[in-house]
Amino acid sequence: MSDKRITTMGQIKETLNRNTDLANMPYFKNLVESKNIGPLRGTDRYRERFGNTPLDYPALGTTPSPFKPKEWNVVETPEKVRDILLQDVKTEMEKEEGGNLYWPPSSTRAEEARDAIELIRNLTNPEFECGEGLIPQLPSPTLEALVSGNKENWRSAISHTQMASSVFPRDHLITLQHHNEAISFSTLLVGQILWIIWPPTEDNLNTLQAAYESYASTLDETAFDITDKLIGGISLVQSVGEGLRVPPFCLMTALPLQTSVLAAYNIIASSKFVPTLLEIPFLKSWWKTEAEGAEKRATFGRGLLAPIQQILRAQFETYTAAQYNKIPVTTRNGPLMQFLSTWDETRSNVIGLMDAETAAALNSSMKEFLCSVLGEACAICGERLGEHLGEKKARVEAHFDDEHWLGGEDGV
Ligand SMILES: [Zn+2]
Repeated sequence: MSDKRITTMGQIKETLNRNTDLANMPYFKNLVESKNIGPLRGTDRYRERFGNTPLDYPALGTTPSPFKPKEWNVVETPEKVRDILLQDVKTEMEKEEGGNLYWPPSSTRAEEARDAIELIRNLTNPEFECGEGLIPQLPSPTLEALVSGNKENWRSAISHTQMASSVFPRDHLITLQHHNEAISFSTLLVGQILWIIWPPTEDNLNTLQAAYESYASTLDETAFDITDKLIGGISLVQSVGEGLRVPPFCLMTALPLQTSVLAAYNIIASSKFVPTLLEIPFLKSWWKTEAEGAEKRATFGRGLLAPIQQILRAQFETYTAAQYNKIPVTTRNGPLMQFLSTWDETRSNVIGLMDAETAAALNSSMKEFLCSVLGEACAICGERLGEHLGEKKARVEAHFDDEHWLGGEDGV
């Protein structure tokens, strides 16, 4: 693993000064030297803008890495990484379909595989002029088998992804964008990457959302010249062997200082799921800017059902769904209460992303939950609906459709 960690602003600037030949370096030097950007080991003021818990702040080091010394031996040289990735490309090609093997995409997967293999073969060749193309997210069963026992294993996780690898050529600008709704853990296997990460404050997300909207209508990339309006950014250099943990919805941009290979997995934390539902208007602006945005949006909408059902079953709580109305607010303050207390605010956006079949399944899951809750009060709004068995089900279901579904009181 790397023995020379880069942690201070002085060390970061020194590293940038060794790479002034990169075409994208003036942009990043400007950013890092502006007084808006601090170091990762920033002051409390920097940390607080990211959130209240340690997991809300990015982390860099060997701790967030799923590679321990024994596993690291398997990936410690570019030659070893090259061989693993070549194997993973081969495995991926044996599947009937899958994501893009290379970006920009080609008309056939075979052509994409050829370009990906060319880039991977040259990981060991410092003279290689690799151009602009990259490998976005190559599923890596080889790395998954290697480190799966070391991945974070939270009882409160809604889901976690398998290991996937990305390869970025030197000087490839990773443009300003938001990090997805997951917490990501990425380890640098080859290369070196400069990251600038801003906290997902309301102001910062509003600024980025306006840029997404502007870009979607004009396709003018200067829409993203907004970094001087963003507050609280930090910079860091990730070196070989270091793991980087990034919280959901952080804003980020990055520059690989050398051709770089990242191995990553994501966790969706149950505590971050409801905040994601509140960001659907932001995501709608982002989907407009994405290739295959409509498809991503539809997949996201379908994907909401299973986690909501997990939450409604009180899977992340210390009580059962039936007990919901019977226990103190301080005890029930988990994802289920977060979900129910914001449902009237999020429902038009949530249902709006779903196809008819998914929405119907959500409707019946929510009714089932509401009917199972003991007591007279509606678990969403508190209205007393009466406890008389036999009639309760019909009353609760009519109340839900009238007040908490489409066409409800808020005129959704
Ligand atoms: Zn109600």
